[in-house]
Amino acid sequence: MKAFDDHSKMFIFKTILFNNRLDYYKKYLQLARTNQYEILSLFDFFKLGDKRNGKHLILRHDVDSVGISTRKMFELERNAGLTSTYYFRFSTIDVPLIHEMINEGFEVGLHYETVSDYIRENGCTDKKQINLKQMRERLSKEIRSFEDIIGYKTTSCCSHGAYENSKLEISNNVLTEKQNMDDFGLKFEAYSAELYEKYIDCHIMDNDVIYNYGFSYKDTPISAIIQNKQNIVLLAHPKHWFYDTPARQIWKVIALILRRATYSTERSFKRIAD
Ligand SMILES: [Zn+2]
Repeated sequence: MKAFDDHSKMFIFKTILFNNRLDYYKKYLQLARTNQYEILSLFDFFKLGDKRNGKHLILRHDVDSVGISTRKMFELERNAGLTSTYYFRFSTIDVPLIHEMINEGFEVGLHYETVSDYIRENGCTDKKQINLKQMRERLSKEIRSFEDIIGYKTTSCCSHGAYENSKLEISNNVLTEKQNMDDFGLKFEAYSAELYEKYIDCHIMDNDVIYNYGFSYKDTPISAIIQNKQNIVLLAHPKHWFYDTPARQIWKVIALILRRATYSTERSFKRIAD
């Protein structure tokens, strides 16, 4: 079964030219629905507890940069009668948009970067300089201030991956790993072992369309749905589905011409715990 073409050079060229990759996002969601997947936010999935039956496609979005793409993705989902989860960094908070999301039943949370911020602020050169207890207290404060800014209580948070994390080989989610999330006033962390070791069969992460037709790992929405994976997380960064500025679109065309595109990957998802 090949539902539609999302795997050719023409597909890449056209989605950049017409800036219409969101049409394909819609097609992936339709394909999931046709194949009896329930599409939902992380929190709605979490709430199911051990009563999980059938197949689920969990939609998670990390809003890493500011732009119209986040609103476009949200409106597409809302118009399709769906809800999902959006994690915002402090630098990408958009209060009016967040209020619309919450009023429509979407989940919103903090995309935290506590450890990487600390590394940058203090010029750390070794992860031993990082006091995890202090960092956890800082994360708690960050969650409270995020909630104060948006005016709502949140249920989960999600770690962001920054350059500083890979440089010092310490992730942000080391702060929540094996911790009692009540201490942070939350129910869960998006990458938690609780979710991934028990329930999630497949984690798909998007990429720019010029990398492996838009996906970071071997698993793609079509392959996962065809294989009937039971509980799939689809992590989609809005910026990869709609170019917020013509400049980004032009750069992608240039990258294509310069043969910077990658047409396959052997990478598979591995949950980072520390
Ligand atoms: Zn991120």
